Amino acid sequence: MGAFTVEVSIVGAGLVGSLLTCFMARRGHAVTLYERRPDPRRAGAERGRSINLAISERGIDALRRVGLDEVVLDAALPMPGRMMHAVDGELTFQPYSADRDRAINSIGRAGLNRTLLDAAAALPGVRLCFDHRLTSMDADSGRMVFQTPGDPGTVTATAPVIIGTDGAFSAVRAAMQGRPGFDYSQEFLDYGYKELVIPPAPDGGFAMDPGALHIWPRGHSMMIALPNPDRSFTCTLFWPKADFASLTTPERITELFAERYPDALALMPGLSDDYLRNPTGHLVTIRCAPWVVPGGAAITALAGDAAHAILPFYGQGANCGFEDCVELDRCLAETGDDFAAALPLYQERRKRNADTIAELAQANFVEMRDKVASRMFLAQKKVEHALERLLPGRYVSQYELVSFSTVPYVEVERRIARQRRWVAAAGAGITALTAVAALGGARRRHK
Ligand code: FAD
Repeated sequence: MGAFTVEVSIVGAGLVGSLLTCFMARRGHAVTLYERRPDPRRAGAERGRSINLAISERGIDALRRVGLDEVVLDAALPMPGRMMHAVDGELTFQPYSADRDRAINSIGRAGLNRTLLDAAAALPGVRLCFDHRLTSMDADSGRMVFQTPGDPGTVTATAPVIIGTDGAFSAVRAAMQGRPGFDYSQEFLDYGYKELVIPPAPDGGFAMDPGALHIWPRGHSMMIALPNPDRSFTCTLFWPKADFASLTTPERITELFAERYPDALALMPGLSDDYLRNPTGHLVTIRCAPWVVPGGAAITALAGDAAHAILPFYGQGANCGFEDCVELDRCLAETGDDFAAALPLYQERRKRNADTIAELAQANFVEMRDKVASRMFLAQKKVEHALERLLPGRYVSQYELVSFSTVPYVEVERRIARQRRWVAAAGAGITALTAVAALGGARRRHK
């Protein structure tokens, strides 16, 4: 093991905790990863919990740094654009990028988690503790209490460095929250989500084009579908919570789908069963600060959804959490693996970026459920892609910067604001020139 071995405890073996374990162990630290669930490599996937997700450049960049990009992408389905489904069945494909080779990738959450856990388990100094639910923690001493199955039912452990990657309703964050000066906010959306399935077609192939993220934009609500390697699609309804609550019988479910999503209804033989059986999930934005709390004998930090849960509408939650891991690794490299210096630096660099993508994700909901259906929006996207081709590297769309680059989110926002000013000024200039030309023409006609 390297010269700077530090005992690091990571709580939560979801996507971010498993990847962070790889980064920390590769630096030569001794990592214990605690997870409340049984080992997902043995148990089955949870029902109705975001079965697949879109991973784009930020996530791939992080995976590349630990040598996992190829194995993950091998199991992924590229989606180079959106396929909009109108109520009358008309389909419109809109590429995400002016560069047709660029795609976001549909990846199974369970498979990705398993790959990350296998990679972590193979590294020296890593200990995986499943069936360990953190129930309380003292951030000063670094003492953690876990609930475990069987007798005596609790395990106590201490560590000088604790990183909470235990998701949106983090127990590590709850322990930090009791301290004076800890800011916390949670904002639930009035919408919930529910997952459904479009199985493979009778001939065994995909029932729709697998090379797209499918969207049924319906103004105040929407459905999306991402392809899976087994040739099914996972559909997600994003509806106002009241709509979910009011739909309780197979007849009403079929009626409503016939009205809103007739082309999809024809492909969903198990619709009513899935709808009635699968849970309705909540959508929440969580902000908190500080992410790092130094104690007497320990230092505690947060990463991933535990630090910043965002809405899923830019497909960036996991991507952003993976970037946290890259930044933390970078800060450790810059500080000679001094956690007391690296963790505050990590927080300083990531917090504003996480706040920015939270806002962009909120704004993108309106775009996905409503604007993508309008001809004006599609025309704007065509103009945007034309500008990108005309001014390569100088005009770059927001989607491109968020999904196909690792430019910090804060810088993306600044750059887009600059571009908008520039386009507005150019537009005003063209309008002025046209007006002057028209005036000149009118004068000549009067002479
Ligand atoms: P989680 O995935 O929530 O993992 C936390 C882990 O901690 C879990 O394994 C949990 O069991 C464990 N844990 C919790 N409490 C304890 C405890 N007390 N003790 C021990 N262990 C504990 N992101 C994208 O990038 N692209 C997408 O397309 C995308 N689509 C999404 C669609 C939906 C509907 C939703 C809801 C989210 C989507 N996201 C997407 C966001 C993404 O799922 C999250 O950002 C990501 O899962 C965060 O990873 P995490 O490891 O921080 O947290």
